[in-house]
Amino acid sequence: MIDVRMEASLDPRLVTPRCPECDKPTKNYKPYCSNHISKMPYVKTLMENYEQEIIYILNLHGSRSAKRLAIDLRLKEPEVLALIKKMAAQGKLKTFLSKRGDLCISCA
Ligand SMILES: [Zn+2]
Repeated sequence: MIDVRMEASLDPRLVTPRCPECDKPTKNYKPYCSNHISKMPYVKTLMENYEQEIIYILNLHGSRSAKRLAIDLRLKEPEVLALIKKMAAQGKLKTFLSKRGDLCISCA
């Protein structure tokens, strides 16, 4: 009988998955590390769904502040800001500052 603990102590790769993007060990047996979690298929799908919802909201209401968008999507503002930054870099939407200095978003 093979002692699994002994084998694990000899080669941690046997029990700790490594991120295919950066080869760092992952936590909780996840397939990707926290820096590359967006590569996971379900996270990718979730992000795409949020992007579609943002476009839908902007088409429905015109421009929206990042704070308002976070409320609409029931997300925290930093999460919405990360999505906005990504989408703006892809040319999917535009950002501007309101007269009060709030970050606002509209369709590109
Ligand atoms: Zn990684």
